[in-house]
Amino acid sequence: MRPVRVDARTVSAAVRVLGRLVMAVAQAGKYASLNGDGRAAAQAMDLATELGAALAADRVGEETEVPVGLLDELAQVVESVAGKIESEGWSICPCGEAHEQDEVDVEVVPVMRTDAGLARQLRAGADS
Ligand SMILES: [Zn+2]
Repeated sequence: MRPVRVDARTVSAAVRVLGRLVMAVAQAGKYASLNGDGRAAAQAMDLATELGAALAADRVGEETEVPVGLLDELAQVVESVAGKIESEGWSICPCGEAHEQDEVDVEVVPVMRTDAGLARQLRAGADS
C-alpha cells in the first residue's frame, strides 16, 4: 500500500502544463514496466490516473487545483526513471538488439528532467 500523503495542500496549475506532466509520468511508467520495476510502474500509473482525474473534474478551466504531494511524488518518480535510463541502461526497448532505441533513450532524459523541474516549480508555489 502507498503511504498517505502528509502534505494536504493544493496549488493551482495550468491545465496545459498538467497535461504535459501526465505524459511525462506515463512515459516514466512505461520505462519502469519494460525494465522490470513493477512497483515504480504501478506508482507512475497511479499518479497519471490521479492527475488525469484532476484534469477531468468538473469546472476545470484554464487552471485546476492539484495536491502538492502529487507533484512531489511525480517529480521524484520521473527524475528517478531519468536517472535509471542514464546510469542503469533502462531502455524503451530492452530487447538486447541495437535498433536506434539508444537515440530515443538519450533524448528522453533531458525531457523528463525538464518535466520533473516543471512539477517542482509548480509545487514551489505552495511554499510562498
Ligand atoms: Zn528492441
